[in-house]
Amino acid sequence: MTAFDALLVSKSGDGQTAEWTSLTEDALMEGDVTLRVSHSTLNYKDGLAITGKAPVIRRWPMIPGIDLAGTVVRSSHPEFREGDDVLLNGWGVGETHYGGYAQMARVKGDWLLPVPDGLRRADCMAIGTAGYTAMLCVMALEAHEVKPDSGPVLVTGAAGGVGSVAIALLARLGYTVAASTGRAEMADYLKSLGAAEIVAREEFSGTPRPLARERWAGAIDVAGSATLANVLSQIKYGGTVAACGLAQGMDLPASVAPFILRGVTLAGVDSVMAPRAKRAAAWARLAGDLDLAKLAAMTETRPLRDVLALAPDIVAGKVKGRIVFEVS
Ligand code: NDP
Repeated sequence: MTAFDALLVSKSGDGQTAEWTSLTEDALMEGDVTLRVSHSTLNYKDGLAITGKAPVIRRWPMIPGIDLAGTVVRSSHPEFREGDDVLLNGWGVGETHYGGYAQMARVKGDWLLPVPDGLRRADCMAIGTAGYTAMLCVMALEAHEVKPDSGPVLVTGAAGGVGSVAIALLARLGYTVAASTGRAEMADYLKSLGAAEIVAREEFSGTPRPLARERWAGAIDVAGSATLANVLSQIKYGGTVAACGLAQGMDLPASVAPFILRGVTLAGVDSVMAPRAKRAAAWARLAGDLDLAKLAAMTETRPLRDVLALAPDIVAGKVKGRIVFEVS
Protein backbone atom coordinates (compact mmCIF):
# COMPACT_ATOMS: atom_id res chain seq x y z
CA MET A 1 0.00 0.00 0.00
CA THR A 2 1.35 3.48 -0.90
CA ALA A 3 2.82 5.43 2.00
CA PHE A 4 2.40 9.19 2.02
CA ASP A 5 3.33 12.18 4.20
CA ALA A 6 0.75 14.00 6.28
CA LEU A 7 0.60 16.65 8.97
CA LEU A 8 -1.24 15.18 11.94
CA VAL A 9 -2.54 17.39 14.75
CA SER A 10 -3.23 15.53 18.00
CA LYS A 11 -4.64 16.49 21.38
CA SER A 12 -2.07 16.61 24.13
CA GLY A 13 -3.22 17.47 27.63
CA ASP A 14 -4.87 20.91 27.49
CA GLY A 15 -3.15 21.73 24.21
CA GLN A 16 -2.30 20.11 20.89
CA THR A 17 0.75 18.99 18.91
CA ALA A 18 1.36 19.04 15.15
CA GLU A 19 3.72 16.42 13.68
CA TRP A 20 4.72 15.21 10.22
CA THR A 21 3.99 11.52 9.87
CA SER A 22 3.92 8.75 7.26
CA LEU A 23 0.52 7.09 6.71
CA THR A 24 -0.84 4.47 4.36
CA GLU A 25 -4.13 4.67 2.45
CA ASP A 26 -6.00 2.49 4.94
CA ALA A 27 -5.59 5.30 7.50
CA LEU A 28 -7.72 7.65 5.38
CA MET A 29 -11.31 8.35 6.35
CA GLU A 30 -14.41 7.23 4.48
CA GLY A 31 -15.26 8.54 1.05
CA ASP A 32 -15.99 7.43 -2.49
CA VAL A 33 -13.10 9.30 -4.14
CA THR A 34 -9.40 8.83 -3.34
CA LEU A 35 -7.03 11.42 -4.72
CA ARG A 36 -3.40 12.43 -4.83
CA VAL A 37 -3.21 15.96 -3.45
CA SER A 38 -0.95 18.19 -5.54
CA HIS A 39 -1.64 21.59 -3.92
CA SER A 40 -3.21 23.08 -0.84
CA THR A 41 -3.19 26.55 0.68
CA LEU A 42 -3.22 28.56 3.88
CA ASN A 43 -6.41 30.22 5.07
CA TYR A 44 -7.00 32.12 8.31
CA LYS A 45 -9.00 29.14 9.57
CA ASP A 46 -6.06 26.78 8.89
CA GLY A 47 -3.92 29.09 11.00
CA LEU A 48 -6.46 28.85 13.82
CA ALA A 49 -6.58 25.04 13.49
CA ILE A 50 -2.80 24.55 13.62
CA THR A 51 -2.13 27.06 16.40
CA GLY A 52 -5.17 25.92 18.38
CA LYS A 53 -6.21 29.58 18.82
CA ALA A 54 -9.83 28.59 18.13
CA PRO A 55 -11.60 25.21 18.26
CA VAL A 56 -11.57 24.58 14.49
CA ILE A 57 -10.57 20.91 14.86
CA ARG A 58 -13.47 18.87 16.16
CA ARG A 59 -12.20 15.31 15.63
CA TRP A 60 -8.82 14.07 16.89
CA PRO A 61 -6.29 13.43 15.53
CA MET A 62 -6.83 15.56 12.42
CA ILE A 63 -5.04 16.31 9.18
CA PRO A 64 -5.74 20.05 8.79
CA GLY A 65 -6.15 21.92 5.50
CA ILE A 66 -9.64 23.12 4.52
CA ASP A 67 -8.74 23.27 0.80
CA LEU A 68 -7.14 20.83 -1.60
CA ALA A 69 -6.60 20.26 -5.29
CA GLY A 70 -5.41 17.03 -6.83
CA THR A 71 -5.97 14.19 -9.25
CA VAL A 72 -8.39 11.30 -8.77
CA VAL A 73 -6.71 7.95 -8.17
CA ARG A 74 -9.86 5.87 -7.56
CA SER A 75 -13.56 6.72 -7.62
CA SER A 76 -16.91 5.01 -7.23
CA HIS A 77 -18.68 8.37 -7.58
CA PRO A 78 -20.56 8.67 -10.89
CA GLU A 79 -19.14 12.13 -11.71
CA PHE A 80 -15.41 11.43 -11.21
CA ARG A 81 -12.94 9.06 -12.84
CA GLU A 82 -9.26 8.24 -12.41
CA GLY A 83 -7.14 11.08 -13.78
CA ASP A 84 -9.71 13.87 -13.23
CA ASP A 85 -8.37 17.11 -11.77
CA VAL A 86 -10.54 18.23 -8.86
CA LEU A 87 -10.74 20.83 -6.09
CA LEU A 88 -12.36 20.94 -2.67
CA ASN A 89 -13.22 23.83 -0.32
CA GLY A 90 -14.62 23.35 3.16
CA TRP A 91 -17.41 20.86 3.92
CA GLY A 92 -15.71 20.26 7.30
CA VAL A 93 -12.52 18.97 5.66
CA GLY A 94 -9.58 19.82 7.95
CA GLU A 95 -12.09 20.14 10.83
CA THR A 96 -13.95 16.81 11.13
CA HIS A 97 -12.60 14.97 8.06
CA TYR A 98 -8.91 14.56 7.07
CA GLY A 99 -7.88 17.56 4.99
CA GLY A 100 -5.42 18.91 2.46
CA TYR A 101 -2.11 18.86 4.36
CA ALA A 102 -1.30 15.32 3.16
CA GLN A 103 -0.22 13.79 -0.13
CA MET A 104 -3.37 11.65 -0.30
CA ALA A 105 -7.01 12.29 0.61
CA ARG A 106 -10.25 10.33 0.55
CA VAL A 107 -13.44 12.37 0.48
CA LYS A 108 -17.07 12.33 -0.62
CA GLY A 109 -17.31 12.93 -4.35
CA ASP A 110 -20.24 15.27 -3.61
CA TRP A 111 -17.73 17.64 -2.00
CA LEU A 112 -15.57 17.87 -5.12
CA LEU A 113 -15.75 20.15 -8.13
CA PRO A 114 -13.86 19.65 -11.37
CA VAL A 115 -11.03 22.15 -11.87
CA PRO A 116 -12.73 24.78 -14.08
CA ASP A 117 -11.59 25.28 -17.68
CA GLY A 118 -8.95 27.99 -17.82
CA LEU A 119 -7.55 27.29 -14.34
CA ARG A 120 -4.80 24.92 -13.20
CA ARG A 121 -4.82 23.05 -9.88
CA ALA A 122 -2.26 25.53 -8.53
CA ASP A 123 -4.48 28.49 -9.55
CA CYS A 124 -7.42 26.90 -7.73
CA MET A 125 -5.38 26.80 -4.54
CA ALA A 126 -4.06 30.33 -5.10
CA ILE A 127 -7.77 31.26 -5.05
CA GLY A 128 -8.64 28.77 -2.28
CA THR A 129 -11.44 29.23 0.21
CA ALA A 130 -10.35 32.86 0.64
CA GLY A 131 -10.83 33.68 -3.04
CA TYR A 132 -13.96 31.60 -3.47
CA THR A 133 -15.42 33.42 -0.45
CA ALA A 134 -14.46 36.76 -2.00
CA MET A 135 -16.45 35.69 -5.09
CA LEU A 136 -19.44 34.70 -2.92
CA CYS A 137 -19.25 38.18 -1.35
CA VAL A 138 -19.20 39.88 -4.76
CA MET A 139 -22.19 37.74 -5.81
CA ALA A 140 -24.01 38.82 -2.61
CA LEU A 141 -23.44 42.49 -3.46
CA GLU A 142 -24.67 41.89 -7.02
CA ALA A 143 -27.76 40.06 -5.73
CA HIS A 144 -28.58 43.17 -3.70
CA GLU A 145 -28.19 45.48 -6.70
CA VAL A 146 -24.88 47.06 -5.71
CA LYS A 147 -23.65 47.97 -9.19
CA PRO A 148 -20.42 49.58 -10.43
CA ASP A 149 -22.25 52.91 -10.84
CA SER A 150 -23.84 52.74 -7.35
CA GLY A 151 -20.73 54.29 -5.77
CA PRO A 152 -17.50 53.14 -4.12
CA VAL A 153 -17.28 49.70 -2.50
CA LEU A 154 -15.14 49.22 0.62
CA VAL A 155 -13.06 46.08 1.28
CA THR A 156 -11.73 45.58 4.83
CA GLY A 157 -8.72 43.41 5.68
CA ALA A 158 -7.63 44.40 2.21
CA ALA A 159 -4.10 42.97 2.20
CA GLY A 160 -5.25 39.54 3.43
CA GLY A 161 -6.46 36.65 1.27
CA VAL A 162 -10.20 37.40 0.98
CA GLY A 163 -9.47 41.13 0.69
CA SER A 164 -6.85 40.81 -2.06
CA VAL A 165 -9.04 38.60 -4.27
CA ALA A 166 -12.10 40.79 -3.59
CA ILE A 167 -10.25 43.90 -4.76
CA ALA A 168 -9.02 42.22 -7.95
CA LEU A 169 -12.52 40.90 -8.75
CA LEU A 170 -14.37 44.15 -8.02
CA ALA A 171 -11.88 46.24 -10.00
CA ARG A 172 -12.14 43.89 -13.00
CA LEU A 173 -15.95 44.16 -12.84
CA GLY A 174 -15.74 47.95 -12.99
CA TYR A 175 -16.36 48.91 -9.35
CA THR A 176 -14.49 51.77 -7.67
CA VAL A 177 -12.76 50.01 -4.79
CA ALA A 178 -11.63 51.51 -1.47
CA ALA A 179 -9.19 49.24 0.40
CA SER A 180 -9.02 49.40 4.19
CA THR A 181 -5.76 48.15 5.66
CA GLY A 182 -3.87 48.33 8.92
CA ARG A 183 -0.61 48.07 6.96
CA ALA A 184 0.13 51.42 5.28
CA GLU A 185 3.11 49.83 3.51
CA MET A 186 0.66 47.72 1.46
CA ALA A 187 -0.71 50.77 -0.41
CA ASP A 188 1.20 50.16 -3.66
CA TYR A 189 0.33 46.45 -3.59
CA LEU A 190 -3.38 47.21 -3.09
CA LYS A 191 -3.37 49.81 -5.88
CA SER A 192 -1.71 47.28 -8.19
CA LEU A 193 -4.67 44.94 -7.54
CA GLY A 194 -7.09 47.70 -8.53
CA ALA A 195 -7.84 49.73 -5.38
CA ALA A 196 -8.62 53.36 -6.22
CA GLU A 197 -8.33 54.56 -2.63
CA ILE A 198 -6.55 53.37 0.54
CA VAL A 199 -8.32 53.94 3.86
CA ALA A 200 -6.58 53.42 7.21
CA ARG A 201 -8.03 50.62 9.36
CA GLU A 202 -8.24 53.11 12.29
CA GLU A 203 -11.10 54.90 10.50
CA PHE A 204 -13.28 51.91 11.42
CA SER A 205 -11.91 51.18 14.85
CA GLY A 206 -13.54 53.76 17.17
CA THR A 207 -16.75 53.30 19.16
CA PRO A 208 -19.37 52.90 16.42
CA ARG A 209 -21.99 55.62 16.06
CA PRO A 210 -25.51 54.55 15.01
CA LEU A 211 -25.16 56.54 11.77
CA ALA A 212 -22.18 58.27 10.20
CA ARG A 213 -21.55 60.05 6.91
CA GLU A 214 -22.79 57.94 3.97
CA ARG A 215 -19.63 56.86 2.13
CA TRP A 216 -19.98 53.39 0.58
CA ALA A 217 -22.54 51.82 -1.78
CA GLY A 218 -21.42 48.44 -0.51
CA ALA A 219 -18.71 46.70 1.45
CA ILE A 220 -17.03 43.34 1.89
CA ASP A 221 -16.03 42.87 5.52
CA VAL A 222 -13.63 40.24 6.86
CA ALA A 223 -13.14 41.78 10.31
CA GLY A 224 -16.49 41.73 12.16
CA SER A 225 -16.67 43.43 15.57
CA ALA A 226 -16.27 47.25 15.77
CA THR A 227 -15.01 47.37 12.18
CA LEU A 228 -18.24 45.91 10.80
CA ALA A 229 -20.34 48.14 13.08
CA ASN A 230 -18.48 51.24 11.84
CA VAL A 231 -18.75 50.12 8.22
CA LEU A 232 -22.52 49.61 8.59
CA SER A 233 -22.89 53.15 9.95
CA GLN A 234 -21.21 54.54 6.78
CA ILE A 235 -23.21 52.63 4.14
CA LYS A 236 -25.23 54.76 1.74
CA TYR A 237 -29.02 54.54 1.63
CA GLY A 238 -30.10 51.09 0.30
CA GLY A 239 -26.55 49.69 0.26
CA THR A 240 -25.30 46.24 1.29
CA VAL A 241 -22.47 44.80 3.34
CA ALA A 242 -21.34 41.23 2.63
CA ALA A 243 -19.94 39.98 5.95
CA CYS A 244 -17.79 36.87 5.95
CA GLY A 245 -15.12 37.18 8.63
CA LEU A 246 -14.09 37.68 12.22
CA ALA A 247 -10.44 38.77 11.93
CA GLN A 248 -11.12 41.43 14.58
CA GLY A 249 -13.76 39.54 16.57
CA MET A 250 -17.03 37.60 16.67
CA ASP A 251 -19.01 40.38 18.33
CA LEU A 252 -21.04 43.05 16.55
CA PRO A 253 -21.47 46.21 18.65
CA ALA A 254 -23.85 47.82 16.14
CA SER A 255 -27.15 49.67 16.19
CA VAL A 256 -30.21 48.91 14.06
CA ALA A 257 -30.17 52.49 12.73
CA PRO A 258 -28.53 51.64 9.34
CA PHE A 259 -31.15 48.92 8.73
CA ILE A 260 -34.28 50.84 9.72
CA LEU A 261 -33.31 54.37 8.66
CA ARG A 262 -31.22 53.70 5.54
CA GLY A 263 -32.57 50.31 4.41
CA VAL A 264 -29.07 48.84 4.61
CA THR A 265 -28.71 45.07 4.11
CA LEU A 266 -26.28 42.91 6.06
CA ALA A 267 -25.70 39.86 3.85
CA GLY A 268 -24.05 36.92 5.62
CA VAL A 269 -21.65 34.83 3.54
CA ASP A 270 -20.69 31.23 4.36
CA SER A 271 -18.38 29.19 2.17
CA VAL A 272 -18.12 25.96 4.18
CA MET A 273 -21.62 24.55 3.70
CA ALA A 274 -22.62 26.55 0.62
CA PRO A 275 -24.64 24.32 -1.72
CA ARG A 276 -22.84 22.72 -4.65
CA ALA A 277 -24.69 24.73 -7.33
CA LYS A 278 -23.65 28.00 -5.68
CA ARG A 279 -20.03 26.83 -5.48
CA ALA A 280 -20.03 25.79 -9.12
CA ALA A 281 -21.43 29.21 -10.06
CA ALA A 282 -18.76 30.96 -7.97
CA TRP A 283 -15.93 28.90 -9.50
CA ALA A 284 -17.23 29.51 -13.03
CA ARG A 285 -17.22 33.24 -12.28
CA LEU A 286 -13.70 33.04 -10.81
CA ALA A 287 -12.45 31.34 -13.99
CA GLY A 288 -13.87 34.21 -16.05
CA ASP A 289 -13.67 37.30 -13.86
CA LEU A 290 -10.36 36.99 -12.01
CA ASP A 291 -7.29 38.47 -13.68
CA LEU A 292 -4.75 35.61 -13.49
CA ALA A 293 -1.82 38.04 -13.65
CA LYS A 294 -3.17 39.74 -10.51
CA LEU A 295 -3.73 36.35 -8.88
CA ALA A 296 -0.08 35.48 -9.57
CA ALA A 297 1.03 38.85 -8.17
CA MET A 298 -0.77 38.25 -4.86
CA THR A 299 0.40 34.62 -4.49
CA GLU A 300 3.51 33.07 -3.01
CA THR A 301 4.25 29.36 -3.60
CA ARG A 302 5.85 27.43 -0.74
CA PRO A 303 6.53 23.77 0.11
CA LEU A 304 3.90 22.27 2.43
CA ARG A 305 6.59 21.82 5.09
CA ASP A 306 6.49 25.62 5.66
CA VAL A 307 2.92 25.49 6.95
CA LEU A 308 3.89 25.20 10.62
CA ALA A 309 5.99 28.36 10.44
CA LEU A 310 3.33 30.31 8.50
CA ALA A 311 0.27 29.36 10.60
CA PRO A 312 1.00 31.83 13.46
CA ASP A 313 1.73 34.55 10.87
CA ILE A 314 -1.70 34.37 9.24
CA VAL A 315 -3.43 34.47 12.63
CA ALA A 316 -1.36 37.58 13.47
CA GLY A 317 -2.48 39.26 10.20
CA LYS A 318 1.06 39.25 8.80
CA VAL A 319 0.47 37.27 5.60
CA LYS A 320 0.10 39.26 2.37
CA GLY A 321 -2.37 37.96 -0.21
CA ARG A 322 -2.38 34.23 -0.77
CA ILE A 323 -0.04 31.28 -0.16
CA VAL A 324 -0.10 28.08 -2.22
CA PHE A 325 1.49 24.90 -0.90
CA GLU A 326 3.06 22.38 -3.23
CA VAL A 327 2.11 19.06 -1.67
CA SER A 328 3.14 16.18 -3.94
P1 NDP B 1 -6.07 36.83 6.24
O1 NDP B 1 -5.36 36.67 7.52
O2 NDP B 1 -5.37 36.54 4.97
O3 NDP B 1 -6.62 38.33 6.15
C1 NDP B 1 -7.27 38.95 7.24
C2 NDP B 1 -6.93 40.42 7.20
O4 NDP B 1 -7.75 41.10 8.15
C3 NDP B 1 -5.51 40.74 7.62
O5 NDP B 1 -4.58 40.58 6.59
C4 NDP B 1 -5.65 42.19 8.02
O6 NDP B 1 -5.65 42.96 6.83
C5 NDP B 1 -7.07 42.24 8.62
N1 NDP B 1 -7.06 42.19 10.08
C6 NDP B 1 -6.37 41.36 10.88
N2 NDP B 1 -6.60 41.62 12.17
C7 NDP B 1 -7.49 42.64 12.19
C8 NDP B 1 -8.12 43.39 13.23
N3 NDP B 1 -7.89 43.13 14.52
N4 NDP B 1 -8.98 44.38 12.89
C9 NDP B 1 -9.23 44.65 11.59
N5 NDP B 1 -8.65 43.99 10.55
C10 NDP B 1 -7.80 43.00 10.86
O7 NDP B 1 -7.40 35.95 6.35
P2 NDP B 1 -8.42 35.54 5.20
O8 NDP B 1 -8.50 36.63 4.21
O9 NDP B 1 -8.14 34.16 4.76
O10 NDP B 1 -9.78 35.50 6.04
C11 NDP B 1 -10.34 36.71 6.51
C12 NDP B 1 -11.50 36.42 7.45
O11 NDP B 1 -12.57 35.84 6.73
C13 NDP B 1 -11.17 35.46 8.59
O12 NDP B 1 -11.82 35.88 9.76
C14 NDP B 1 -11.73 34.15 8.09
O13 NDP B 1 -12.05 33.29 9.14
C15 NDP B 1 -12.96 34.63 7.36
N6 NDP B 1 -13.39 33.70 6.34
C16 NDP B 1 -14.70 33.28 6.37
C17 NDP B 1 -15.18 32.44 5.44
C18 NDP B 1 -16.62 32.08 5.45
O14 NDP B 1 -17.00 31.05 4.90
N7 NDP B 1 -17.47 32.89 6.06
C19 NDP B 1 -14.31 31.87 4.41
C20 NDP B 1 -12.97 32.45 4.37
C21 NDP B 1 -12.54 33.32 5.33
P3 NDP B 1 -4.86 44.37 6.73
O15 NDP B 1 -3.48 44.10 7.24
O16 NDP B 1 -4.91 44.72 5.27
O17 NDP B 1 -5.63 45.33 7.60
